[in-house]
Amino acid sequence: MSLANYHTHSCFCDGEGEPESYVIKAIEHGLDAIGFSCHAPVPFFKSYLMEDSKLSAYCDTIKRLKAKYQEKIQIYLGLEIDYIPDAIGPGSPQFKDLGLDYTIGSIHFIKDPFKGEFWEVDESPAALEKLIREIFKGNVDDFISYYYLLIRQMIKEHNPNIIGHLDLIKKFNSNNYFFCEDNELYIKEVEETLRVIAAAGSILEINTGGISRGYIETLYPSTWIIKECKCLGIPIILNSDAHSPKSVDAFFDQALEILHRAGYSKQRRLVNGSWKDTLLAPIRE
Ligand SMILES: [Zn+2]
Ligand SMILES: [Zn+2]
Repeated sequence: MSLANYHTHSCFCDGEGEPESYVIKAIEHGLDAIGFSCHAPVPFFKSYLMEDSKLSAYCDTIKRLKAKYQEKIQIYLGLEIDYIPDAIGPGSPQFKDLGLDYTIGSIHFIKDPFKGEFWEVDESPAALEKLIREIFKGNVDDFISYYYLLIRQMIKEHNPNIIGHLDLIKKFNSNNYFFCEDNELYIKEVEETLRVIAAAGSILEINTGGISRGYIETLYPSTWIIKECKCLGIPIILNSDAHSPKSVDAFFDQALEILHRAGYSKQRRLVNGSWKDTLLAPIRE
């Protein structure tokens, strides 16, 4: 049986609390593994990313915890790494010699080609509106296509182990404010991306973080995407994207129900350092 979380932030980036407090909570909650995935540094400053100068202390801290708690829980060292074309990504050389157990590849930024600035897709509704207006001249379809193109490019160029929160761009899309997920173009972009994920053998993340942080009421990705993943034989991993210790397994019950209904009985995760397909925990009453 499998209850674990491989997407965990901490005070090394924008999470609250020391990594050890997450380990203690994970043990209390009966998880058999926890992986840390701080936001990796990128070549420009953003307050919620880890600073370059903290990277080695972060790695040392997680490795120390791994040894300290080895009798109680498996601990893994990872990073959530942004892909920025021609600049950085999960496969970049600076991450090669850190002793990472895995990488999560995520897209949080889009570059403004006119001013060279980087804009977050997940900062606020107003910032997203501005991004679409200024970078894509208000054309939401172009924004959607570019976002999913970036994910496909990231997989082809950097091959991360796990694809983080695939449909993050729906974070501020309540009441279909920006787009409809049943729009033909949206479906086409998602399906093309899923085919790239399947061909690369990447693991798709099922992420409860949008729910636990109060932004959305559904998982990343949406249930219809999870069903398509099942049809394509894409392996999944259930993660909470915890930014506080109490969230190490937040909304896992809800996610397990959706996953079992979509036909998933297994998830792919690290067990004793190797990727294995393990039985998902049953739906808890
Ligand atoms: Zn993220
Ligand atoms: Zn995250």
